[in-house]
Amino acid sequence: MTDLRPAASELEQAIRNVPDFPKPGIQFKDITPVLADARLFAGSIELLTEGYKPGMVDAVIGIDARGFIFAAAAAINLKAGFVPVRKKGKLPFRTLEQDYALEYGLATVAVHVDALKPGSRVLLIDDLLATGGTAAAASALVERIGATILQISFLIELSFLGARNKLNRYPVRSLVVY
Ligand code: AMP
Repeated sequence: MTDLRPAASELEQAIRNVPDFPKPGIQFKDITPVLADARLFAGSIELLTEGYKPGMVDAVIGIDARGFIFAAAAAINLKAGFVPVRKKGKLPFRTLEQDYALEYGLATVAVHVDALKPGSRVLLIDDLLATGGTAAAASALVERIGATILQISFLIELSFLGARNKLNRYPVRSLVVY
């Protein structure tokens, strides 16, 4: 499978920057060209899960919504389960919820109460690390259940926002760093 792995520069070239989406001043990193390229998509999954083999991970957690795409594919590669962490109000069964601060106001992420077992070994995946609020809240949910976070992986990290401080208790891996 080694031949699948793209260089970070190839992923970076494929990631499309869309200025002023969804609002003025945001440089939106569009990962759909990576998904549309069979080699880059499969290769990004290899890189996000590098160092892990089937049997080492019980569940891969994807963060709503683009994180689902990468986490689900990673879960199949690792023969692990897939668990969605969703925005509040989307999951149908009983949930645990975690609030976190946005630039203006609060947001809430949720997970089903029975989605993970205490002691489960999990990887957390999202498409992009910006301020780190979302990943930190998702990690807090996982810890409240008593599961163990092996690593948090992102396709993209906006390192100038300093999010690693919020995640410094975990190994963090990002494939493309701006
Ligand atoms: P944060 O909680 O600030 O780290 O924001 C991370 C979440 O917001 C991720 O789920 C991303 O999908 C999304 N996000 C934040 N900034 C961007 C951006 N510039 N381009 C694309 N997605 C973004």
